[in-house]
Amino acid sequence: MKRIWTMLLVVGSLRGADVSLWTSSEAVVENMVMARARDQAARMFGAVGVNVEWTRAVPTGCRTNTIEVRFSLVSASWMRGAFAYTTPFAAQPVVTVFYDRVKSASQPELRTRLLAHVLVHEIAHVLMKADHHAREGVMKPHWTASDYIQMAQGPLPFMSMEKRLIRDGLKAFVEATSSCHAMLSKALDGGDSQDRAHAQNRESPLPAEREPE
Ligand SMILES: [Zn+2]
Repeated sequence: MKRIWTMLLVVGSLRGADVSLWTSSEAVVENMVMARARDQAARMFGAVGVNVEWTRAVPTGCRTNTIEVRFSLVSASWMRGAFAYTTPFAAQPVVTVFYDRVKSASQPELRTRLLAHVLVHEIAHVLMKADHHAREGVMKPHWTASDYIQMAQGPLPFMSMEKRLIRDGLKAFVEATSSCHAMLSKALDGGDSQDRAHAQNRESPLPAEREPE
């Protein structure tokens, strides 16, 4: 039963958010920058109706609403000029941020905001399941000096079409997660009755064979 309760608690914790963002390698980012960028990214998604949670815990059970976010320090020749990239069409999408480039392209006072925008841009690709880019806002392929000035004052916006694509993508995320949870619950119900049968066997008055603990 202990195993089952542990798994139910994991399932329950994932149901609190639409999307779980798992940071598997954030050690290269300064703690304060990381914490503030995570908060700002969550607020930017919250403004378009997406409830995200950040976690460092390795995901278990249903991973249908999990996006892995990696941070790396790369050589100058790899994807020259890009702050990050993602794999929006993969079954287990991954966002990879080249943090050394984010760091070298920004003054300390803008670094948190730039990192938040880089994260939001790439995660939005995954939510939309699209390589869509826009002429304005956070989904611009290349931000200009005026974008950085605007970014320092407040978040760059999503365009209306992007909000619609994100909402549609989110619906698909939620549906996939619900059906995964339903399948998991069904499997756990089966495991529960097996455990009860196992427990009854252990209470047998004939202790001829003892199973290893
Ligand atoms: Zn992009």
